[in-house]
Amino acid sequence: MKAVRWIMALALGAFAFVPLAQAQQKGTIGVSMPTKSSARWIADGDNMVKSLKEKGYGVDLQYADDDIPNQLAQIENMITKGVKVLVIAAIDGTTLSDALQQAASKGVKVIAYDRLIRNSKNVDYYATFDNFQVGVLQAGYIEKALGLKEGKGPFNIELFGGSPDDNNAYFFYNGAMSVLEPYIKSGKLVVRSGQLGMDKVSTLRWDGAVAQARMDNLLSAYYADKRVDAVLSPYDGLSIGIISSLKGVGYGSGKQAMPVITGQDAEVQSVKSILNKEQTSTVFKDTRELAKIAANMVDASLSGKEVEVNDTKTYENGVKTVPSYLLKPVSVDASNWRETLIASGYYTENQVK
Ligand code: BGC
Repeated sequence: MKAVRWIMALALGAFAFVPLAQAQQKGTIGVSMPTKSSARWIADGDNMVKSLKEKGYGVDLQYADDDIPNQLAQIENMITKGVKVLVIAAIDGTTLSDALQQAASKGVKVIAYDRLIRNSKNVDYYATFDNFQVGVLQAGYIEKALGLKEGKGPFNIELFGGSPDDNNAYFFYNGAMSVLEPYIKSGKLVVRSGQLGMDKVSTLRWDGAVAQARMDNLLSAYYADKRVDAVLSPYDGLSIGIISSLKGVGYGSGKQAMPVITGQDAEVQSVKSILNKEQTSTVFKDTRELAKIAANMVDASLSGKEVEVNDTKTYENGVKTVPSYLLKPVSVDASNWRETLIASGYYTENQVK
């Protein structure tokens, strides 16, 4: 009996070591994520670890607290430790050129994850969503909710942009403006503050508190005796700040309905807010799918196979056009959250209620 137990223990022990041995055999992948302050990046990191481990790799996953020198140091450390490939979601997409040069000189391939890395020839692939389409979905939602296509209006709108050091922020803004601009020109949408363009509407580091402070200023300067009917917000974390500001002056209570407010990432707090009729919509980007695409890129580039891409024209990074794989974002509101977020297994119903 004792002998049987011993054999079983040995067999189990050997079994437990297989994934590790396999991981070491295939090498370690460095995954550099920007911040844990937003749930989406935590999900991205977890999903990357899962997808890479399934393929037999070890993973060195680091979060940089939205601090640029910190991210640089973490990446340099990964290169020193001998990672085989770097997967990077950059905080500031323009500050990594020297580190990537080091990586290239060691033959380490670089995959830009979700955010394009700019000004470097050493970016091999880019895994992301159709970022222009994200903006089109956000603005298209406003267009539909206000009935702009049917000629309704004029309505007052204010615009928010993402972080000016994140290439995505321009794609979101331009996508949104491709829908909104004709209505602004025709006067059916009025930006009372006159604040248009990324140089005026951006929000450094995607910081919700910064958005809240800007919304406070807009409301007191331009809406003391007028109603704001819609707010273009490119990210759930900003929407939360904007909603706090609106609530502070009475929106969402009594006769003063909330304006139409967009978002992005379908973060739990914002899905709850949508179900509470505060935020109106968000854009869901399935991070499980993004991690799979990025892990496939890692695996194919290390095994000399062709790396699957579906866009070779859009993402010019200042030096080269980076071959990309774009996933489809999906608009979510109170009418389709179950089929998009729950049926897909992304969240359980309990998590968002
Ligand atoms: C991502 C968005 C996210 C934003 C803030 C962007 O680069 O594409 O999904 O909302 O960063 O974290």
